[in-house]
Amino acid sequence: MGSRSHSSLILLSCALAIGSAAATNSHHHAVDDSTFDYVVVGGGTSGLVVANRLTENRRNSVLVIERGYFDDKPEAIIPWYANAVDTSVLLSPRSAPNPKLNNATRNVTVAAVVGGATVVNGMGCDRGSKADYDAWEELGNPGWGWDGLLPYFKKSTNFTPPNPDVVERWNMTWDASAYGKGPVQVHISNFQYPDIDVIWEGFRQQPGVTFPPGASSGFGPGAYWTPNTVDARDMTRSTARSAYYDPVNKTRTNLRLVIGQTATKLLFDRGKRLRARGVRIVSSVDGKARNVYARKEVILAAGAVMTPHLLQVSGIGPAAVLKAAGVKVEKDLPSVGANFQDHATVVLWFNLSTPSFPNPDSISNNATYNATVWEEYFTNKTGPIAAANSNSIIYYSLSQVLSSSAAASVASRLLAQDARQYLPSIYSTNSALLRGFKAQRAILAQRFKTNTSSYTTQPLRGNGQSPSPLLKPLSRGSVTLNLTHPESLPVVQYNTFMNPIDEELAVAVVRRSRQYWASPALQKLGPTERQPGVQYQTDKEILDYLKANPLALFASLAHPSGTCAMMPEKLGGCVGSDLRVYGVKGLSVVDASVIPLISGTSLQATVYAIAEKAADIIRARG
Ligand SMILES: Cc1cc2nc3c(=O)[nH]c(=O)nc-3n(C[C@H](O)[C@H](O)[C@H](O)COP(=O)(O)OP(=O)(O)OC[C@H]3O[C@@H](n4cnc5c(N)ncnc54)[C@H](O)[C@@H]3O)c2cc1C
Repeated sequence: MGSRSHSSLILLSCALAIGSAAATNSHHHAVDDSTFDYVVVGGGTSGLVVANRLTENRRNSVLVIERGYFDDKPEAIIPWYANAVDTSVLLSPRSAPNPKLNNATRNVTVAAVVGGATVVNGMGCDRGSKADYDAWEELGNPGWGWDGLLPYFKKSTNFTPPNPDVVERWNMTWDASAYGKGPVQVHISNFQYPDIDVIWEGFRQQPGVTFPPGASSGFGPGAYWTPNTVDARDMTRSTARSAYYDPVNKTRTNLRLVIGQTATKLLFDRGKRLRARGVRIVSSVDGKARNVYARKEVILAAGAVMTPHLLQVSGIGPAAVLKAAGVKVEKDLPSVGANFQDHATVVLWFNLSTPSFPNPDSISNNATYNATVWEEYFTNKTGPIAAANSNSIIYYSLSQVLSSSAAASVASRLLAQDARQYLPSIYSTNSALLRGFKAQRAILAQRFKTNTSSYTTQPLRGNGQSPSPLLKPLSRGSVTLNLTHPESLPVVQYNTFMNPIDEELAVAVVRRSRQYWASPALQKLGPTERQPGVQYQTDKEILDYLKANPLALFASLAHPSGTCAMMPEKLGGCVGSDLRVYGVKGLSVVDASVIPLISGTSLQATVYAIAEKAADIIRARG
């Protein structure tokens, strides 16, 4: 993470320059009407997409309930801030202690702001491989494979290429046909640090590496120029808010967004079949509660941590948990909060003795450079402040991390495991959840043996930081009610390393990252390993180091997913491929919770595509 230290004067001028880009709509606090066709819970990434698309039809009225506020701070607007997380717009509960990590707890990153995680995220805009999404179809979701999602990947995005001289200088490639004319703006930066040449020379020296034409066409493993969610028209962050809300806010009288309002409970009609009819919301301004109602559907878009929480606190979830928390069971649905996946990440650091100038660290360690680049941004909207995160990334299949035979051996050992031994206890009491995991496991074992999808990756910026997420985790976490205070933030258990193969492969990823840094090209930068450090060599030494150091092993890359998975109910699903919650009429989920098997990349492009497709599905049923 880059430092965010720069003078308050610069911050002030920054705020003056662009802080007025969108004024806070305080009049949106109140709800003066109580019945809408659709009530969307969560004005984040998926919620704003769905609200926008549904209100394209003037006859549909939509209310969006958002617990956060508008954020017009520089952090939410200037691309450079992608290198640090603005915690002021996050809820940051601590995770439950993890027995596999010496009972350590970790921060859980949950956005609470209009635009959701797209306002605070790292702005990487990648798609997984075709095989990652085809897995969703294989898990019983017709239409949700790569071919079914590609139109929505395109519909959501618009790509602006870098300048021709930049393209030529860096030999940049992309696949323009992978994008459409959508509202989310993506761009590969015109600004690259000189040592990016070394990074790419290093990529070329990796055995078996391929150079597919573009990061967004589902090729999987390979080295890519990858874009960020940057609006090249004014070099600002492109968010769900700027893409899907601001452009229609003034003209769509059928779209209402209320801010500072938290959905605390779903309201039901209990006729022959349970039906969601509305939502109880509580204002953070005056603490008052009121009910809002949906004629057609309540749509959950509160994200993969808060959507399962809202379902559970409303009586939809594992009956035993609900009863223990004193919540009336409306529908016993054990999948709510199970199947939790994120990308645990090992982070290596190298000290570089001979980096070129400038490099990503120059902004924080060279005051003159710092002042120059901020001025350049405000004057011309160019330079490193106009650039977000890394555009240079290499993805490896498991065979490229290990060897083909070792990857095949991992796949066999995975299939031979007694799955229940390495899963949360609910999988032992619920045969559908266990069947679903085994179906996922069979797919993962198959992917481990091929080069069709990625096991890990290195997004590199040209300094010594080298993060590598585990893109195909086998461990499964959970999100559950706090049993004594069900309405407070939920208990998030990452269960990182619950499956010992995850541990084994984390060590392999450390070795793979070291191998990259040992390539001849990288020696130009004079790297010495600072984290973990060369003294950690055996598997046990490396593993113990990772487990003891939260900065070397992130339990999460802020990619929570899977907690209300789209799968058949007999496989422990929570919603069907029509996104409707099993056993409840009038209730859909459209956010990262529905991802059945986490894709091998950062999630925002995927969530945008899911939400675009969700809007079409919901619209079609009228
Ligand atoms: C710090 C961070 C860095 C990331 N970096 C990247 C990256 O570089 N590249 C990438 O592709 N992805 C990244 N991601 C992940 C990606 O942004 C998310 O996966 C995706 O945006 C999630 O979309 P969502 O709709 O599921 O949830 P969100 O966008 O989080 O939306 C949920 C919304 O619901 C609201 N809400 C929650 N509960 C309630 C309630 N009870 N009542 C009312 N409102 C509620 C929240 O305030 C929030 O606005 C990052 C995420 C974070 C947090």
